[in-house]
Amino acid sequence: MDNKKSVIWWIRRDIRLHDNQALSAALATDLPVVPIYILDDNLLKQSNLKRLNFLFENLHSLDTFLQEKGNHLIIRSGNPFNCLKNLFRESNADAIFTEADFSPYAKDRDEKIASAVPLHLLPGMSIRAPSEVYKQDGKPYTVFTPYSHQWHSSIPSFPPLKIPDQIPALFDLTSEPIPASIPHPLFPAGERIAVERLQDFLNKHIQTYSMNRDLVGVEGTSNLSPYFHFGVLSARSAYYLAELQKQDQVSIQAVNSIEAWINELVWRDFYIMILSEFPHVLKEAFRESYNRIAWRNAEVDFRAWKAGETGYPLVDAGMRQLQETGWMHNRARMIAASFLCKDLLINWQWGESWFNEQLIDGDLAANNGGWQWCAGCGTDATPYFRVFNPIIQSRKFDPTGVYIRTWIPELRNVPTQFIHTPWEMPLELQTKVRCEVGKNYPNRIIEHAFARQRALDAYGRTRV
Ligand SMILES: Cc1cc2nc3c(=O)[nH]c(=O)nc-3n(C[C@H](O)[C@H](O)[C@H](O)COP(=O)(O)OP(=O)(O)OC[C@H]3O[C@@H](n4cnc5c(N)ncnc54)[C@H](O)[C@@H]3O)c2cc1C
Repeated sequence: MDNKKSVIWWIRRDIRLHDNQALSAALATDLPVVPIYILDDNLLKQSNLKRLNFLFENLHSLDTFLQEKGNHLIIRSGNPFNCLKNLFRESNADAIFTEADFSPYAKDRDEKIASAVPLHLLPGMSIRAPSEVYKQDGKPYTVFTPYSHQWHSSIPSFPPLKIPDQIPALFDLTSEPIPASIPHPLFPAGERIAVERLQDFLNKHIQTYSMNRDLVGVEGTSNLSPYFHFGVLSARSAYYLAELQKQDQVSIQAVNSIEAWINELVWRDFYIMILSEFPHVLKEAFRESYNRIAWRNAEVDFRAWKAGETGYPLVDAGMRQLQETGWMHNRARMIAASFLCKDLLINWQWGESWFNEQLIDGDLAANNGGWQWCAGCGTDATPYFRVFNPIIQSRKFDPTGVYIRTWIPELRNVPTQFIHTPWEMPLELQTKVRCEVGKNYPNRIIEHAFARQRALDAYGRTRV
């Protein structure tokens, strides 16, 4: 065993070499760097197969990249406290460098580890750390717009950090194998691909983001969320590159579009901050009164929603896209979530759990924020009386039914006139297009106008 000193780079949600502040701090010590990823059962058991597979794929890719830099990834499984204590001793380490994480579990874990070994927490998960964007009175924001103004007005200028040429290693340390994985057809792993995809989006699509972002059948958004979730892509460098791209634009529409996209990165930061400052959101509504909603919680409706069999084509298309790919378009997430909480009066937490079980980008902060927003009980939520109409939403955001037909083969031959309301098709037409409602495709499980009033009543009762 080597007697040389070293430092540990504990990789968590920063599976990348570019713009990595924890890695950069480790390298600044001029000591060999020991990159470790810990397979922590507490976290792994909360993940789903698609997300785990994507994680393992990215660890394989990081290891290959590290080897090009003269280093390699160490994998250990078990309790992080024990794994790090052992590795600290084995590698004769001076310190551990890692990216700060703001979930209650992570904060608690890091506090315990920091009491035993020198642990340096570096920024990087969000573009602005939660404590960087506070109100004048030193308290956290709870409303997005003023938060975002402050976020922008106080942002320091920075160039993202480059990929290091070399990462000096310490050899002879044992490692478990990286678990086997298979490539995801839509989200290939690795930071090189992630950066290429970002560049492609910035070159070709971001200029029309405002126009296309809500059209569910159009590739109008970046599809980068799984890469941001695992830190395969640095949100900070994405922001920086988008700002650079903005400077080259001449059309107002392109500038507005880039600002709209950056705004989504700010939402990401906002929800990370909310989770950090108000961890109760993981257990209950941000606004206390909404814990009193008398949910119906009908199991049979929940099953239909999960399976994409509510009879409302856009809701069903979204839910089937989710099950098949592990990803869902943002507009479809909003419509499906609203349908669950409002039309079916099912507790938003059931939906939050199901999304977490299915999403490849499943993220504690963003998922919780998204659900609380849709249920109308969150920080900056849509007012409770705004209930999405799934038919109007469908006509507006999938006008010709491209998205619906992609995910619901039963509806493929339904004429556009009826694609959003197949139950209105005359019976002869249903037979002709081989889509008999109630037989090949389900009838609506609820009538929207009735459901809307029922939701308004249930929500209204929490306000007295
Ligand atoms: C009910 C519900 C649940 C959601 N659950 C998640 C989740 O588990 N993980 C997740 O990453 N996003 C979640 N979102 C937010 C959003 O739907 C996805 O981030 C987005 O669809 C990802 O697609 P994209 O990469 O093409 O996004 P783009 O439109 O290209 O946006 C760029 C990036 O900004 C971030 N972002 C975009 N919108 C939001 C938002 N509303 N909140 C926070 N970050 C955002 C994502 O990292 C995204 O990759 C949820 C939204 C809703 C309504």
